[in-house]
Amino acid sequence: MQIETILAHAGLCTDQTTGAISTPIYQTATFRHPALGVSTGYDYSRTINPTRQALENVIAELERGDRGFAFASGMAAITAVLMQFASGDHLIVSDDLYGGTYRIFEKNFRQFGLSVTYEDTSNLEAVQNALIPGKTKAIFIETPTNPLIKITDLGEAIALARSNGVLTIVDNTFMTPYLQRPLELGADVVVHSGTKYLGGHNDVLSGAVVTRLPELSERIGFIQNSTGGVLGPQDSWLVLRGLKTLALRVEKQQENAQKIAEWLAQNDKVNKVYYPGLPEHPGHRVQQKQSTGFGATLSFRVRDSSWAERIINRVKVITFAESLGGVETLITYPVRQTHGDIPVEIREKTGVTDDLLRLSVGIEHVSDLIGDLEQAMET
Ligand SMILES: *Cc1c(COP(=O)(O)O)cnc(C)c1O
Repeated sequence: MQIETILAHAGLCTDQTTGAISTPIYQTATFRHPALGVSTGYDYSRTINPTRQALENVIAELERGDRGFAFASGMAAITAVLMQFASGDHLIVSDDLYGGTYRIFEKNFRQFGLSVTYEDTSNLEAVQNALIPGKTKAIFIETPTNPLIKITDLGEAIALARSNGVLTIVDNTFMTPYLQRPLELGADVVVHSGTKYLGGHNDVLSGAVVTRLPELSERIGFIQNSTGGVLGPQDSWLVLRGLKTLALRVEKQQENAQKIAEWLAQNDKVNKVYYPGLPEHPGHRVQQKQSTGFGATLSFRVRDSSWAERIINRVKVITFAESLGGVETLITYPVRQTHGDIPVEIREKTGVTDDLLRLSVGIEHVSDLIGDLEQAMET
């Protein structure tokens, strides 16, 4: 089935008793057993809950994976994926990535003996050189990266990982399965912050993991149940509700993003625009090859870094807030917000500096958004 159809039918219920169209919110912690040794298939909601299961099934179908797992947040999903590794294991991770992911490697997993090398995963030679035979267990890729929107050629990175017997894990939050499906290209695991585009309304935290092969599904399923960072029934329902309009939202959002990126690129107060939909973006061709769109998150540098604060304080239609992917346009200051936990030296090396602003473009009328940016940028 085509992705648009799967999305529109997300959680479409086949309840025989009532005929309900929408999957009910099974707000229950436990389930009654008909008799000793007999189960309905549902024992306890940490292990399985029908509302969460409806979401997990649709996410697996969207990513064309074996199984899907819903978590309380994107970070809980990433934690579950990292729990499969052991002390002494090494990972290669995209160097420009979500600050929380950097933090979990450095402050949580390093103390358990997991080591990490940050590399520009769009540079395969660098990735190749960072491989430690016998120790490297996975390559963790964000593409596009956050906030500098660098594009990794997934096919090439996956081929390199495979030829070295290591897993490929892709954070697909920015693209969503509507635009990009890494498992189809051979990646082993996809992770999501469902808080962003999947939920799409800035009203629910959630995370997801999708696995390509049953062996990994088994491991992640075990970890999900044993560590318990599961998504609750109410929140599972909200994500199902959000998914129904994902295709429409993303189409509109990226149409707006393209126009804003083009407008910013022409603006003499702007030094640089990072959006893969611009033909001059170094990842434009690769993005066209591996995705069906360019997404709706973009970053730009203002010519004078003191303007950044003024823009943030002046916007009226656009909201100054962390996060991305929702129907409302948000502006973020990565150096102080999403990437504040990354040490200054690393931020400067990767280019997350005080002249950089990130926009998550929503579904408003684009002229209101451009008008707002224009008045906020007036000098
Ligand atoms: C937001 C985000 C996360 C973390 O997800 P939460 O739902 O906030 O826990 C991970 N990766 C990326 C790319 C994100 O944007």
